[in-house]
Amino acid sequence: MATVESVDGPIDVEELGPTLIHEHFRFRDEGAAMQWPHLYDEQDEIEKALADARGVMSHGVKTVVDPNAMTGSRDAPFSKRVADETGVQIILATGIYTYEHLPQVFLNRDEDAVADVFAHDIEQGIQGTEIKAAFLKTACDAPGMVSNVEKLHRAAARASLRTGVPIMAHSQPSSGTGLEQVRVFKEEGVDLNKVQIAHTGDTDDLDYIEKLLDTGVWIGMDRYGLDLFLPTDKRNATVLALLERGYADRMFLSQDYCSTLDWFPPEVQEALKASEVPQWSMTMLFESVIPELKERGMTDEQLETMMVDNPKRWLSA
Ligand SMILES: [Zn+2]
Repeated sequence: MATVESVDGPIDVEELGPTLIHEHFRFRDEGAAMQWPHLYDEQDEIEKALADARGVMSHGVKTVVDPNAMTGSRDAPFSKRVADETGVQIILATGIYTYEHLPQVFLNRDEDAVADVFAHDIEQGIQGTEIKAAFLKTACDAPGMVSNVEKLHRAAARASLRTGVPIMAHSQPSSGTGLEQVRVFKEEGVDLNKVQIAHTGDTDDLDYIEKLLDTGVWIGMDRYGLDLFLPTDKRNATVLALLERGYADRMFLSQDYCSTLDWFPPEVQEALKASEVPQWSMTMLFESVIPELKERGMTDEQLETMMVDNPKRWLSA
């Protein structure tokens, strides 16, 4: 029996059910939150997280994968509270989310030492709890594969080789980082069937996407609602084209939604939400995207493959 670690311990992969592969129940800078807690409303944070968990469950979702990491306030007790109060199953990662900067603590440790840190979360538990990470998270964005980012990709690769867990890599298709990330993982000897290139759905460049798919990785069509990167109609056209080409068994649908996010002051955040990402939510897929994809030819079987089979296969790859 293949199992995967959740915030409530290992679960049989057959119990995962319909899964959102990339959502965040809270995303905030842990340094700022620790130093200036008055900037944060913890009651509001938990209420919004619980509401979103209940919202996705009302659409049949059983599991949410929350790929938070260092710098985004990954918080195992917070995630467990959301799971325990709602009944949703939550899967956590280990890793460092950065596009360039690394603190001294990791600047002065090599790839293998960083891999040890990641393996600790996978084998022992996160933040002193018994909650184990089920996969690794890396990020590469506009600055490209700079040395600190490369170090983290190599560390994640080595931790994956050591523990067997898969890797999710945040990418920026507009600068083609996905292929660079694949190159590093490949150099480290990672089985590319364990690698998911997140945010591939931010582009409608089918040549780039097929180049990635040809390497054997999974792709995240996982930012529905973030129109600033790519509007919904283009995301849908891309997904439909890839379904037509037979890639249902390599794709994930998700929204990269954050129940709360501290990137802007609250009033700016509200204004931006209304003007830039009016549809973005943790349930947008079910309310508008899936109905439209179905109307335009996506079969129930393809949907089941993307929402149920692929999460199971990637998490237990
Ligand atoms: Zn994310």
